[in-house]
Amino acid sequence: MSAADAVTDSLHRMRAEFGDLPGGRPADYIPQLGLADPEAFGLALVSMDGHGYSAGEADVPFTIQSVSKPFIYALALSVLGLDEVSRWVGAEPSGDAFNAISLEPGTGRPANAMVNAGAIVTTALIPDTPGEPAFERILRCLGRFAGRELDVDEEVFTSESMTGDRNRALAYLIRATGTMPVDPVLAVDRYFRQCAVRVTALDLATMAATLAYGGLNPVTRDQVVSPEVAARVLAVMSTCGMYDGSGEWLLRIGLPAKSGVSGGLIAVGPARFGLATYSPPLDTAGNSVRGQAALRALSERYGLHLMLNP
Ligand code: GLU
Repeated sequence: MSAADAVTDSLHRMRAEFGDLPGGRPADYIPQLGLADPEAFGLALVSMDGHGYSAGEADVPFTIQSVSKPFIYALALSVLGLDEVSRWVGAEPSGDAFNAISLEPGTGRPANAMVNAGAIVTTALIPDTPGEPAFERILRCLGRFAGRELDVDEEVFTSESMTGDRNRALAYLIRATGTMPVDPVLAVDRYFRQCAVRVTALDLATMAATLAYGGLNPVTRDQVVSPEVAARVLAVMSTCGMYDGSGEWLLRIGLPAKSGVSGGLIAVGPARFGLATYSPPLDTAGNSVRGQAALRALSERYGLHLMLNP
């Protein structure tokens, strides 16, 4: 079997092995997400030579949700630099749930850019330019990471907008601590739109591979962000990417990762690959049950843990 066939084969095996794994439920606090097919299970890997491998429902569209956070943090770092971004948002794991009031005592900054509080601020930090409003910039950036033009699922956007009072409350609280750069209503509207951008597992694997490849999209050869920015993003993903399951994830799987409430999950093998899974049932920490199981098995079987096999 060729090396390429072996990769495809192992993705298919993961799908067969974990496709019936019970447990978890699709998120429904955003009503539209509750309509997702719980049986959909897609896996994809993109290598540094730009090759895409996939199994199962890797072409099924879903909304990116929190998997957008590392990429918009990358955009903010590129536009403003690490020191300026760090004035507004920290880099410490919160140990709390994704939607917690994770604000640092003293500075009032959100704990990190991977939880909602920090992501709302990161999104708000992206400035409009004369030719391009901030959200268009965000959408174009996500598209460059994915290697194709992306769009917004308006139904999911409206659904979250109508029910997103907790995020609105967070945004107002952040303004009260003095760390909200724009009007909270505007910040949250832009954040909901960003979360509703439509992707597939194969898109997410390409986006993860771009971070793995020092910010260069291995499919389109577009340098989306600098190697330094990509490295900083991977550092924060390593400690904060899996909500309050981040420590356990790094301990066992040992790869920078980010999950989202629609069931997407990415993991990055620096200078090696980008991996992504899509499966909507989530555990209580908000992470995809089948996605985590498959990535854990891949890490163990192929020795992907960065601290074991750097
Ligand atoms: N739009 C979702 C929210 O803010 C994203 C959360 C997530 O994926 O963790 O609640």
